[in-house]
Amino acid sequence: MEKHKPCPNCGNELEFSASRGELHCRHCDTGQEVLRDPDFVPSGSDYLETLARFDENSERPEQIAIDCGNCAAHIELPENVVADRCPYCDSPIIATELCTRPVRPTAVMPFAIDREEATEHYRKWLHSRWFMPNRVKREARTRQFKGIYLPHWTYDSDTTAVYTGMRGEYYWVTVNYTETVNGRSVQRSRRERRTRWYPAAGTAFNLFRDLLVPANRTLPPELVDKLTPWFLDGLEQYQSDFIRGHQEQSYDLPLAAGFGQAKEMMEPEIREEIRRDIGGDEQQILTQSVRYKNISYKLILLPVWENHFEFQHKIYTFLINARTGEVQGKRPWSAVKLTFFILSLAAVAAVFIYLIINHSG
Ligand SMILES: [Zn+2]
Ligand SMILES: [Zn+2]
Repeated sequence: MEKHKPCPNCGNELEFSASRGELHCRHCDTGQEVLRDPDFVPSGSDYLETLARFDENSERPEQIAIDCGNCAAHIELPENVVADRCPYCDSPIIATELCTRPVRPTAVMPFAIDREEATEHYRKWLHSRWFMPNRVKREARTRQFKGIYLPHWTYDSDTTAVYTGMRGEYYWVTVNYTETVNGRSVQRSRRERRTRWYPAAGTAFNLFRDLLVPANRTLPPELVDKLTPWFLDGLEQYQSDFIRGHQEQSYDLPLAAGFGQAKEMMEPEIREEIRRDIGGDEQQILTQSVRYKNISYKLILLPVWENHFEFQHKIYTFLINARTGEVQGKRPWSAVKLTFFILSLAAVAAVFIYLIINHSG
């Protein structure tokens, strides 16, 4: 990993520009191509082999300290951050070579939406929200967005589920009953559906590919989870040129814990496959035992613009998918706007009631 990438024209640090898709100098506007491997296909690593290499310290949180290459300031990066911008001179800091994590990302989805475009997406999102306080709308213009590469695990696995259960098959019966019509008893009949249950047992097979699990939980997980879909065919081979000028987080969710979440994602599909295997009209699953085979994983980086604002002593974070422009955020409600809305509803209702009463009178 190259710590420095000076501009060939003026010597300032180059950074990755989302709008140009290449390295760019903010001082003299010089561009420089990022050398890409056009045949790159992200490939997984064996999950169990990797786990066997770990010791108890492998996945400890880490905090990296580094001197800025531009202004020489001594910088403590936030926990589990391996690239960022210098807080003093704003130039890119690449500290990936100091990272002690046994697993490093192999693929990255480069930023495709730049800060200006992200701001535009955010502004539209804000204006489409009802009852948003005006002060928040004003503030959105002035806030600085932070570009962050979020690590994600992706898991592949084949599963074999051995199960026992019951297969329900419908059949119809004619039921006779008596009804009283005009004081007289009348014989009637109707068709009723019943279910006959048979024991079932067997094996269901599934293939899972690219189950995506966010691997750093610093940003609100409920927002990160909703930035999907990511369209993983845009992945490029990891290289620091794509990172320059953005923050890169390392993972804080251990590899095995991530697979635990992937298992939960597999569960509904496995049960669906068992039901298909049982067949019939209805199914009950009594026992199931799942074996996970050919487990492989990748660590990849996905690009997000992050911003937040404070409103009435609360922090509101919002995130933008820097590939699709999808905005996710928590939001405050304007008490004033809500009150006026409710009052105006009440006024409209009052007018209606007045008209109805007058009309019928
Ligand atoms: Zn330059
Ligand atoms: Zn600096």
